[in-house]
Order: sequence, then structure tokens, then C-alpha cells
Amino acid sequence: MNSYQKLFLIFTTFLLIGCVAPGTTFEEVSDVKLNEAIRIIKTTELDKPIEKTRKEAVLMVENIIEKSMPAAVEWCEANNIPKARCKWKFNYLDDDMFNAFASGRNQITYTKGLMNGVASEEEVAFVIAHEIGHHIGNHIANSQRNIMLGSLAGRILGTVIEGSDELISQTTDLGARFGSLFYSRDQEKEADYFSLVILNKSGFDLIKARDVIIRMAQQSERSERSGFFDTHPTGPERLARFNQTYSEFLKNQLN
Ligand SMILES: [Zn+2]
Repeated sequence: MNSYQKLFLIFTTFLLIGCVAPGTTFEEVSDVKLNEAIRIIKTTELDKPIEKTRKEAVLMVENIIEKSMPAAVEWCEANNIPKARCKWKFNYLDDDMFNAFASGRNQITYTKGLMNGVASEEEVAFVIAHEIGHHIGNHIANSQRNIMLGSLAGRILGTVIEGSDELISQTTDLGARFGSLFYSRDQEKEADYFSLVILNKSGFDLIKARDVIIRMAQQSERSERSGFFDTHPTGPERLARFNQTYSEFLKNQLN
């Protein structure tokens, strides 16, 4: 391949990556807000996580669902979301990784690692409602499409970089991550916003709920392994974005 062809391919690849999330607004986080998030992450001393038996964990989630379901269903009705998309199935996964994810049409899975890694019901409620938000926003189907686009972009990049099969498969994997990461910003915002509305209506303490975002950021600074980080961005920027969404939410509450 000559250098013009390589340049063309690189250009096409970045175009493709850029198109992964059509319509996404890449709202910039200001340095002031980023520094504020860093300060919060460095200075907040969170309550110690409380270990739970499987029974306690499942019971806690059942209570959260009972408490927050009326608000979630109300949201569905107000936004004309078909009833079939507003019924969720919650699964406990005996896995030490701090993780929760939405999958399939209506499944939400939370792990033992998540349940043992948090201190309050609010933190779990935030994560559960956030995952419900991904279902309601139909993010899963969109994500899969974007992961495919990301893989394609990665494959082209792999071909350009040169080629062993191994390298191509590595960059394809990277592309898949790019796809999901690029896609996530607006989806995360939407899921966070949904979570805040639902939690607020259901009587949860939002400040306590935010602890889980700070916790994830502190964990990612220590590079602790978490499956949640593969599909959800973390760190100061994540917290700064959450804070922005939170301010928006508060402003809308006043109007
Ligand atoms: Zn998410």
C-alpha cells in the first residue's frame, strides 16, 4: 500500500469513528469543572462498603425496585414508552467484579462485587435506575450497532498499521471499545438524568446516590478492576459530567 492509500484509509477510519454516534453532542467539560471533580475525588471520604450475603443483596434490590418502580412506570407513560419495554428482570450474579449491566430486551444484572462494594441503598439504587435508563433509552440496540461500526473502524486501522492477524484482532477489539466509549457520553447523560428523576421521586437521597460515581472514580484512580469501567467511562470527567447533569436536573426541578 502506498502512503497516499494509507493516508486515505487513516482519514476514512477517523471519519468512521467520528460517525459512530450520529447526533451526539460532545459537550466539553470546562477545566474549572474538571478540577472541581478532581478535588471531590481526592478529598471525599466515603463510607466503608458493607458486605452482604446473597439474600441481603437480593432483598436490598427488591426493596429498591418496589420503591422506585412507580416513578419509572410514570416516566414510561409520560414518554409513551411501550409497556413491554417498561418491565425489567433483575438478576444477581455471583461475581466479585464491581459491575452492573443492562442486556437483552429487559434484563438488568448486578454483581456480588457491586453489592459488597457500596455503603448505602442509594448507591445501588442509582446504578439500578441508571441501567433501567439504558433500557428505556433503547441504548443497547444502538450500542451494538456502534460496537460494530467501531470494530470496522478498528479493522481498517489495523490494516493500515500493518499486518499480522493478531494486530488486526487487537485493533478490532480496540475499535469495539472506541465504539462503545464514544457512544456512551450522551447515553450516560441520559441514563444519569433518568436515574436522578426516578430516585428523587422515589424519596432517595441524591447526594448519597452520587457517592457511587465518586467511588468508581476513586477505584479507577487506583486502577482497580471493574467490568463497569469497560462499558461506562469513569474518572474525573465522568464525575464532572454527572455534576453537570445534576445541575441541569436541579434547574429543571425549579422551573
Ligand atoms: Zn451507563
